[in-house]
Amino acid sequence: MLHAAKSNKRVKRDHGALKNSDIAELLALKAETAKMPAQKALRRASRRALMWPEEAGDIVGSGRSLTELTGVGPYIERVIKDWIEKPSTLPTPPPVRRNFLTYADTQVILAKKPTWLMGIKGDLQMHTTWSDGEGTIAEMADAGVERGYEYIAITDHSKGLKIAGGITEEQVREQAQEIAAVNDSLMRDGKRLRVLRSIELNLNPRGEGDMDENCLSELDIVVGCFHSSLRGKQDQTERYLAGLRNRSINILGHPRGRIYNFRLGLIAEWQKVFDLAAELDKAVEIDGYPDRQDLSIDLVRLAKKSGCRISLSTDSHGPSQLRFIEYSAAIALKAGIPPERIINCMSRDELLQWARKIRQ
Ligand SMILES: [Zn+2]
Repeated sequence: MLHAAKSNKRVKRDHGALKNSDIAELLALKAETAKMPAQKALRRASRRALMWPEEAGDIVGSGRSLTELTGVGPYIERVIKDWIEKPSTLPTPPPVRRNFLTYADTQVILAKKPTWLMGIKGDLQMHTTWSDGEGTIAEMADAGVERGYEYIAITDHSKGLKIAGGITEEQVREQAQEIAAVNDSLMRDGKRLRVLRSIELNLNPRGEGDMDENCLSELDIVVGCFHSSLRGKQDQTERYLAGLRNRSINILGHPRGRIYNFRLGLIAEWQKVFDLAAELDKAVEIDGYPDRQDLSIDLVRLAKKSGCRISLSTDSHGPSQLRFIEYSAAIALKAGIPPERIINCMSRDELLQWARKIRQ
């Protein structure tokens, strides 16, 4: 039986059943030697391949056109079909493109444990029109209701990140009124979901936030993130330890700061970072935005060793992106994180209690 399965797999490969992950890498490689505008199209398609809803190989196999996939026009379709029909050796991705799951991969991982997604009661990082998102708070809440959530946290950028429309203390308090109104309306409609007040607190490399601490203490939960000096090659362990020790934060968001095919992210002695998170009972995030996937699966395995809490989020910038939770959930599942360590598996009351206790 085992034998048959094994040879079956090889036969499939021989016939060019390239996975979307292989296609993403081949597209990125081809872009490296291509001229404009092909270069741009290839790079974009490589990134989009991470999000395609099904394997391109299956689409070709069923006689459909690849142009139904985002980022694929007639030129890219011809390129991909050529690879599928004439397979050659598959390249190993360089670090800047390594350890990324495609959406198709996430579905295979999640299918092994059908109850896994149902245990996730909310999403803890997303943006709205208050900063650089495309949806209103009410629209994000509706999308959360559709996913069956108990809560979503609204984490617009804080004031220091001007490029992303960061909000001031005054705006945070205005936003509170809108959140209260949305929660009232959810309650009237008999919905279980509540919107939590949060923020993506911009941390400087010394781990300090850019907002008044009194204002932060009014929030339900706080995510702290680094957005500057993200290209250094020096060890950044101290920065992370300082960030975690910042009394205002519950969660260290997109810790590495990596972006697919663009930026490698920071270097640190991660075990030390996760050990401190465990000691302080804080959470580190698996940001499920497809070209972040940060923490990546290799680092989540280290976090598991430390036993620190894990936060799952989508970093959504619009209602349709809440499905990105499937990347974070698949990474956590694959890394073997038990539900007791995932803060999104807590009920709203438990979550709020933990968040308050940590910041006292
Ligand atoms: Zn961010």
